[in-house]
Amino acid sequence: MGYDRAGEVCRRCGTIIERTVIGGRSSFFCPKCQPVASAVTPPASPKKR
Ligand SMILES: [Zn+2]
Repeated sequence: MGYDRAGEVCRRCGTIIERTVIGGRSSFFCPKCQPVASAVTPPASPKKR
């Protein structure tokens, strides 16, 4: 590590790789193949009463 990878493209779809910081660590991801960081925080499951 050490150099910025900004501007890289996804090898799958060719979309510009986005960079995000999760938990203080920068991560690269394809917004098309990996839609949003919502995958990190799963939606709250409905509570049954
Ligand atoms: Zn992609």
